[in-house]
Formats: sequence, C-alpha cells, structure tokens
Amino acid sequence: MKINLPISPGARHVVTALQTAGYEAYIVGGAIRDLLLERTPKDFDIGCSATPEEVRQVFGRRSARIIGKRFRLTHVTCKGELFEVSTFRKAPAETAAAPAKEGSDTEEMAENLILSDNSWGTAVEDAWRRDFTVNALFYDPVDGQLYDHTGMGLADIKSRTVRAIGEPALRFEEDPVRMLRALKLVGQFDFTLDSATENALFARLELLKLASPSRLALELEKIFGSCCGDRHLRAFHDYGLLEYFLPELNHCWDTPVMDRALELLYERNCRLDEGRYRNSVSLAMACVALPFVEEALGIAPGDPVPSRKCGGAANAVLEKIFLPLHMMIRLNLSAEKILTLQAIFDQGKCPRELYTSRSYPNARELKIIRAAVDGGDPEQTDREWPLPLVEHAPRGKNSNGKPRRRRSRKPKETPQE
Ligand code: ATP
Ligand code: MG
Repeated sequence: MKINLPISPGARHVVTALQTAGYEAYIVGGAIRDLLLERTPKDFDIGCSATPEEVRQVFGRRSARIIGKRFRLTHVTCKGELFEVSTFRKAPAETAAAPAKEGSDTEEMAENLILSDNSWGTAVEDAWRRDFTVNALFYDPVDGQLYDHTGMGLADIKSRTVRAIGEPALRFEEDPVRMLRALKLVGQFDFTLDSATENALFARLELLKLASPSRLALELEKIFGSCCGDRHLRAFHDYGLLEYFLPELNHCWDTPVMDRALELLYERNCRLDEGRYRNSVSLAMACVALPFVEEALGIAPGDPVPSRKCGGAANAVLEKIFLPLHMMIRLNLSAEKILTLQAIFDQGKCPRELYTSRSYPNARELKIIRAAVDGGDPEQTDREWPLPLVEHAPRGKNSNGKPRRRRSRKPKETPQE
C-alpha cells in the first residue's frame, strides 16, 4: 500500500544511505504504529538486510556503534538523532518448539526461553519474528510503500487490537517481557488483547520472574520516560502482571498511598505532555516514591517534609520499590536526592548550594507537582523558587556541549530487546 508518512529527515537519510549501498532497508516497529495512530513517534527504528558490521561500514566508525549481545544491533547517529538499526532476523531455530501444555509448571514453560536472537533472515521472516501484528509494519520512506507482512497489522491498528504473532503461548514462553509489552499497548493506546493472546498471557504471568532484570529495568525506564506511565501501571495491575513486575506497588494498590503516587505521576505526565518540564525518569520515580516516604515518616499527605530522617526513608522506599529490578543505581540515587531536597524547600530555605545542585531543577519541579496535587498554587511555587543558576551540561556532553570521550567500548544490553 502507498502512503505518505512524516518520517524524520535523519531516519530518511539512514534508510536512503543503506539502500544506496545496495541493502534493503525500512522504518520498522513502533514508529509506524504510532504514525498510523496519528501520534508522534518518540524514535524511528530501522530494519535492514545489512549485518551490524556492514551497517558500520556504510556510516563509518564515528557514526555507528555495534551494541548488545542477546540482540546485536547498531546505533547510528545522523543529523543529531540516534537510530537503532537492526538486521532482519528469523525466529531462532531452537524456538520452533511447541508451547508447554496448559497447566504445566514454570520450569517446563521456561524451556522455550530465547537466550540469543541473532539469526539473520529476510524482511518477511523478520516481520514474523516480531512480537505483535501492530508492531510488524515496515515502511519504505523512499517509495512510500507500506508492508503488512503478517496481513493483520493494519486491521489490528484500526480495531485497536493487540495480537501476538504466531502461537501466543509460545511467544510469551520464548520471551516473557512480551507480556509486559502487550500490556503497555493496552495502557498507552487503550488497545484490547485478542482472546487467544489474553488467555495465553493470563496463564503465563508468572514467567515474568524469569525475565532478565536488566531488560525489565530498561522497560521500566521507558515507562517512566513516557507520559503515560500511570496508565501502564494500571494496565499491569488490571491484568495481574504488576505482582511480578513491581510487587511492592501491587501490594499497596487501592490504598490512599498508592492512589496519591498515581496522582503525582499523572500530574508529572501532564506537565511533560504539555511541554512545561523536561523528561526525567528519576523525577517520575520520585513522584511514585514520595507518598511512601511520607508514610514512612509518619506525616500526612501534603504536609511539609521534615529534614530529619528524610534521606534514610527515601533511600529505604526507593530500594524496596525499584531495586528488586536492579533499576539503575544512578536513577535511584538521583530520585533520592530529589526527595531529600523536598525537606529543604519545605523549610523555606534556598541556600545557594541547593540551587546550583544538579538535582535542583527536578526537585523544584516535584515541589511544583506537589503544589498542584495538594491544592496549592503551582504558579506561585514556580515564581517563588528561583530557576537554576547554571544550566548543567546534558549527560554525555561536556560544558562546551561537545560529546564526552567514551572510555569503554563494552557492549551494553540493548534497549530494543
Ligand atoms: P516504543 O514506543 O516503546 O519504542 P516499540 O514497539 O517501538 O515501542 P521498541 O522496544 O523500540 O518498542 O522495539 C522496536 C520493535 O522491535 C517493536 O515494535 C517490535 O517490532 C520489535 N520488538 C521489540 N521487542 C521485542 C520482543 N521482545 N520480541 C519481538 N519483537 C520485539
Ligand atoms: Mg521504538
């Protein structure tokens, strides 16, 4: 089908360069789904017939870096944007197994777990090894052709259905993180699961315990990096998955503390969506943790946070909620800083070292969010507290805005799979 989709200039350039070098290349995955749903994609993923080494040859070592072990791919920087360029894959041979019988135990179900997903294939094979039909559309921005190799992606986008590609039970056994990904689509877009996908998911929720904590942490980072994390958490809870993902939050569901956590997160999401403040994962974590900290300190919701014991309480709460997932320690530390700075705000002090601190902007934003949720005047809070004195260079850049030199070339777990 021919269609004109608004693709970023960088993504178009990467696809064109790969095609000019003689490879097949498309925009794939979530970006096409988002564009067809008339949403702005947060990034553009590219699928191609070139291997990671060939991709690096096309773009050169300075612009292309191979990452990942379980799922190798190339990060390509072009026109100031970063793209994940993956090679077409086919389903790994060892997964041509049958799903475990209904009522089997976790151990039997775990036999289908994929440990490595690096067998190259064709574009069609690549579409069929993807998770859901709505995520398996390919688009060629050069000739405007849209490919729906599973034959159901477009119809499922129209009917807002999450349908696992192939045998849903086997697909969840191969990779339990797919269950979380299915429910993200439910939370984010109000999609419904088709009945076979839903039944397989209900019977396999427990498998999430086998998923790698670092992959779950990456998904959590994406959830808190979006402006619909509260909706994702609700979907996880409604389907019983939260118990295996963030058990502490599940345990407190439907309590005033958890309701307040969702309210604070929602307020942060609205402000992010309206462009009133930048995206910060640790700020989202601090929003969720704050009511638990208030509870631990024995203060009423919305009361000033006392400085005594605040740091210890914040640390204990964050560890309890997020550390079982091996959530990056850096994020936990910066969420802790945001929470402990609330006590300084609440005492009405603003020492110079506070607002020159790297955490000051996020802590100030949490203070504004609290005012909005607790019936205060967020605008007044905004006026009352000075804007940061110094703009800190973004992470990975030095104070001249130039990229910091990388010290290690150790492959990282990829955010994509
Ligand atoms: P988001 O908006 O969160 O980025 P996305 O669908 O683009 O959503 P990515 O993690 O960027 O998610 O993955 C890109 C694509 O890779 C997906 O759309 C899907 O086609 C495929 N994919 C990702 N994870 C898996 C998985 N676990 N199993 C199979 N295919 C996957
Ligand atoms: Mg994506």
